[in-house]
Amino acid sequence: MPQIKVSSRLDPIKPSITLAVTAKAARLKAEGIDIISFGAGEPDFDTPEHIKVAAHAALDGKVSGKYTEAGGTLALRTAIAKELSGVHKTTFAPDQVIVSSGAKHSLYNLFMALLDPGDEVIIPAPYWVSYPDMVMLAGGKPIYIETRAEDDFAVTADQVRAACSGRTRAIVLCNPSNPTGAVYTRAQIEALAAVIIEKDILVISDDIYRQLVYGDAEYVSIASLSPQMAAHTIVVDGVSKTYAMTGWRIGYTAGPVALVKAMAKIQGQSTSNPTNLAQTAALAALTGPQDCVAQMRTAFDERRVEMVKLLRAIPHVTCREPKGAFYAFPDVSYYVGKHSPEGSIFDDDVQLCDWLVEVGKVAIVPGSGFGAPGHVRLSYATSLANIREGVARLASALATLR
Ligand code: PMP
Repeated sequence: MPQIKVSSRLDPIKPSITLAVTAKAARLKAEGIDIISFGAGEPDFDTPEHIKVAAHAALDGKVSGKYTEAGGTLALRTAIAKELSGVHKTTFAPDQVIVSSGAKHSLYNLFMALLDPGDEVIIPAPYWVSYPDMVMLAGGKPIYIETRAEDDFAVTADQVRAACSGRTRAIVLCNPSNPTGAVYTRAQIEALAAVIIEKDILVISDDIYRQLVYGDAEYVSIASLSPQMAAHTIVVDGVSKTYAMTGWRIGYTAGPVALVKAMAKIQGQSTSNPTNLAQTAALAALTGPQDCVAQMRTAFDERRVEMVKLLRAIPHVTCREPKGAFYAFPDVSYYVGKHSPEGSIFDDDVQLCDWLVEVGKVAIVPGSGFGAPGHVRLSYATSLANIREGVARLASALATLR
């Protein structure tokens, strides 16, 4: 058999740890093992009915089986431009918008369109797992900035200033944050905006969780601060989390026309248009009734409160209050390096999480994948019953460690 040599481009690339944990939990479940999974970053709700109805109607029509413009239909791009212009208090024209097959695809195309080899992208840690690998696949260099739990995982303007070099192209701002659930305050956003303009870099504002904020937290659009700041902002957003549409794979980018055109060129030579039918569904999501969003947010909020309360009751576990998205990100470092009753020792959070799913029957994601060893991520986008049972399992398993 010939030896297959895969491209060295992939040498620094790791598989997505969140997908790996979710897949392992699914495999154990398929074997009949009762696992509670806090792994998946997706709402447990079904896509709202009116969105499905619109998709059904499109399927019965004549055009849903056809290609669309590679960057998305004009109708959808117009709706997105209108929505994002309102959110960011600026004017996005439809030709400043490109629709991709999920926000992950948006980000991938964005880095491919933006970066030359050696260009640097600042990524505050903890970060969403895919940013560093996407930057590296595009030939860029991730520059990490460590943030602290005590600061609610917010990166400071001074840190960004110090991390900038002549090669810095952009900073990624995930707000609300996956994995920490942190939401930047207006003062923090203003301070970041000042340094972004001073250093003349771009901000990639990953807003996929922008509608999922709780209590008195407020999503502040960095682009909305001034026209100058808007010119430095690339917005990435999508319907996956807000409308329980992860499987439909629709995400979008809004930003400077030159960049959007470059992304369209990549898309035109790779995937072509995002699924036609899914674009119709996304259009219905954006232009239809929005009460479904509020209903889901209320349910997430209730689950958030319960999960944080239960996590904080576990000895030696600390947990900041997540203010957005649907993740809790507790510090479990006390348990790293301890022995299980079977005699294994956990050198890191990855081994600990592996044992927790095998023995504790609860799937959670190790913080190492997010650049935050000693932490773990639990999604509370699951039922209250699962949260109670799953965190109880976690607590009992941890209690057996010595
Ligand atoms: N950004 C962040 C921060 C995310 O958590 C995710 C999904 N896990 C994405 C982007 C990608 O979302 P999509 O499903 O639209 O590709």
